[in-house]
Parts: sequence; structure tokens; C-alpha cells
Amino acid sequence: MKISHIEHLGIACPSIEKALPFFENVLGLKCYNVEVVEDQKVKTAFLKVGEVKLELLEPTSPDSTIAKFIEKNGGRGGMHHLAFCIEDGVANALAEAEGLGIALIDKAPRKGAEGLNIAFLHPKSTAAVLTELCENPNK
Ligand code: ZN
Repeated sequence: MKISHIEHLGIACPSIEKALPFFENVLGLKCYNVEVVEDQKVKTAFLKVGEVKLELLEPTSPDSTIAKFIEKNGGRGGMHHLAFCIEDGVANALAEAEGLGIALIDKAPRKGAEGLNIAFLHPKSTAAVLTELCENPNK
């Protein structure tokens, strides 16, 4: 697979409203998009650091995977996943990873926030870092 850059870092937080002042007022970053992804039961907020984004993730339901992650982390949340931008397509990258014996969470790309096609690789195959593959279908 061809990776062009880190697309974003996913950070789980119990409340985006409470987390944002640190990123905006202390780090001086700007939130440019807030979006609910029903499919994943999360509300997301995006900030840009150069070409890389930060994706803040707040659960919208107690059975969201983000809610479970926050619960496991003593209610605090924290670094959740690392997302790479794939130049030659997420479907290709998934097939390639599967062929190399990597455990997949998603067998096929699905729609994520910001209209990206996304898929997750299982942390048991990725040095314990939940890894997301992304492509912008409009590029
Ligand atoms: Zn993500």
C-alpha cells in the first residue's frame, strides 16, 4: 500500500465541549468541523495541525466503541487511533494487509467522517495501535 501521510490522530474524550478549550485556547488550533457519525455512534470534531488533523471523538451512545474505550481508561479517554491516508485505495490496502495475515476489523471500506472511505486494522496485528486506513474518494 502507498501511504502519503498521517491523515489524523483520533483522540477519545468524554466531552468535546470540555476538551476543545485546551486545543483551541492553549494550542491555538481551530476546530473547523463538527459532525455526528451515526454509524459509529460518535460525534467528531476536527482540528488541523499542518496537513495532519486531530479527530476528537465523543460517544453518542453508551454502546459505542468509544464509550467502552473511555470506560476502560478510567473515564478519561485519550489517544485512540492512528489514521493513514492511502494513495492507492483502502480496498487495495485491506486486501494486501489481509494477504499478509493482518487481522482486519473492517473487511471492506465504509464511510467515515468528512466523506472519507475508511477501514480499521485490528490492534493485535498493528503493534497494539488501532490503525485506520483512509482515502478521500473526491481526490
Ligand atoms: Zn479516525
